[in-house]
This record gives sequence, C-alpha cells and structure tokens, in this order.
Amino acid sequence: MTDDVTEQAPVQQVQTEGKALEQAFERFARFSDPAALAKLNLETATAIQRELADVRTSRLGKKSAWASTKKLIGRVTPEERPVVGQLVQEIENRVVALVDTIEINLKSHIEQERTARESIDVTLPGRRPPYGHRHPITILRERIEDIFVALGYIIEDGREIETDFYNFTALNIPENHPARGEADTFYTTDGFALRSQTSTVQIHAMQRRGVPIRMIAPGRVFRRDTPDPTHNPMFYQVEGLCVDRGITMAHLKGTVTEFLRRMFGPDTVTRFRPSYFPFTEPSAEFDFSCFKCKGAGCRICKNSGWIELGGSGMVHPNVLRIVGVDPKVYSGFAFGLGIDRMCALMYELDDIRLLFENDVRFLEQFE
Ligand SMILES: [Zn+2]
Repeated sequence: MTDDVTEQAPVQQVQTEGKALEQAFERFARFSDPAALAKLNLETATAIQRELADVRTSRLGKKSAWASTKKLIGRVTPEERPVVGQLVQEIENRVVALVDTIEINLKSHIEQERTARESIDVTLPGRRPPYGHRHPITILRERIEDIFVALGYIIEDGREIETDFYNFTALNIPENHPARGEADTFYTTDGFALRSQTSTVQIHAMQRRGVPIRMIAPGRVFRRDTPDPTHNPMFYQVEGLCVDRGITMAHLKGTVTEFLRRMFGPDTVTRFRPSYFPFTEPSAEFDFSCFKCKGAGCRICKNSGWIELGGSGMVHPNVLRIVGVDPKVYSGFAFGLGIDRMCALMYELDDIRLLFENDVRFLEQFE
C-alpha cells in the first residue's frame, strides 16, 4: 500500500482492493456453472486449471495486494475495526467460495475427460488389418498337392536352372530336337537351360530316391514364347511320376481319372488320345468332360464338351535306364499339366497374363 492509498478512508480502500480482487477472477467466473465446462476438451480444461491456480496464488497468497489490505484491520481505530473487518471477510468469503467452486468443477470435468479417453468402447467395430491373399495359382497348386498326397504321392521340388543332361538328354530328347534350340529354350550365358518342363524333376527324384516312387513336382517352367492371352514365357506345370513293378497304362488312366474327379466332381469323364513325347512310350494326351456344361458344349470347352488338359504316357525305357532302373523289372507312368491353363479355365480368365501382372484388384477376387 502506498501512502496515498493509506490516506483514503479504510472502508473505501478495502472496497477498491476488493473490486480489483474480484475482477482478477472475473474471466473464470462462468465456470462456476458446470455446464460451461461441458464443451472443453482435456487440454483446455487442464490449462484453465493451471491458470486459475496461478491467479489464486498471486491474488490471494501471502505476498498479494489483498494480504496487505487485510493488515489494515490492525491499523484502523477501534471504532472502525468491526466494519472494516466484516467487509474484508465478506469480500474474501465471496471470492474464495467462487474460486473453490470453479476448482471443484474443473477437477471433476478433467477426471471425466481422462476416463472417457482411456476407456475402450467395446461396441465399436474393430479395425481389420489388411490381409494378403493367396495367389490363384497357389490356391490351385495346393488343391492339386492335397489330392495327390491323399493318393500316396510325395511332393518333390526341383531346380529351375538345369544342365542339358537333365533338361533334355535324360528325358530321351535327341541331340537334334528343335526344343534344344535357342528359339524354344532360354539359356544362361554359361550354357545352362531354364527348365522347359518339370519332367526334369523325375530324373533328380529317381536318382536320389530310387524306385519304387510316387511323386508330383509342381513348379515354374520357361519357354521362349511371345506373351498373348493364352501364352506366357513362364508358367506353372505339375509333373507326376509313378514307377513300380507291374505298372501299366491302366494305372495311369485310373490315377488321372481319379485326380480329375476329385478336382472337378465325381461325374467327370476322361478321354485319352494317342500322342508323342520323347520321354514316354506309348504317349497320350488327356481331356476331361467340361466341368461347366458337363459335356453339352459351352464357351469354356469351345462347344466340344471336352477340355484338353495335359500329356501323359508310360515312362520310356531309355529314361529308366539312364537313372539305373532296369526297365525289364520296373515300369511306370508320367503325366504333366499346366496349372496356369487350369486356373484360366476354372476362373474363366480371358487372359492368363493377368496372373502375373500383380494387380491386387484382380488377385483379391480369389480365395
Ligand atoms: Zn463346356
């Protein structure tokens, strides 16, 4: 208090200071109504709480102007003392009651906001993380594998880069055969071939495991081809081989037929047509009755009622001999079919190139 001020009448002085005190809290006054807090978020409410605590300290604390004003009570005349004392008390009670109310309101609002933020709304639907899909070729390959595993076959894996011996010679493909040419087969600069059929795995498997053997080998093969809706220079095949004593063409027909029935339904009919492959003798291509029209004729089977699927035959004696198996004791059959082609049929794809373009919008359609 300055001397000027102390010269004012004490009551007037208390009133002036009291007014200043009340004004200091004026901007918080509306929060004495809890409804005024409803729209405040946690951060804002916490900031106001902190600000109010600061103002309370500076305006009502021991070093505040108001604390000095209260000391007037001891300095006034005994006659004035009750009036001044009462006035000071009234003002202080009013201000402290207001600040207390606001503080309580802020505290409870902040607690509510904090609880709401930390609690989990169990009624909200969960956010599903994006799942990958199996590629349609993988889906089909696994179905084929499941069927043959159930028939007692093992699954063999093979290398994609091969020597001349495995890709051609061991498969009884003659030296001058056009398939050996660079127009048909990809070669590395070191003269290795990218395998042009999965039949190479037959040779590796028989060399490693010996006979009897029942195996399938799904995998990628490579042929020089200009990509178009039905051709790709890389595609998937699955090869099958069964070698044992007394294996005949009847076993081949029975196995292929059973596979196709499990794949396309129990009423599927198969048809074998004589053909030629260097590594089988006799050889046959096999067709099956259209799974869509059941033989009546449709777009998929080009109105023939039949779908051509793969090649097969009895393992050529030369192939058995080259892996050290005596063809007079053992015989076997082999077959191969294209997984991409089967995929195109089953999913009615107009263009097999879609399978390798990796467009998720396309791939996501298959489960
Ligand atoms: Zn059809």
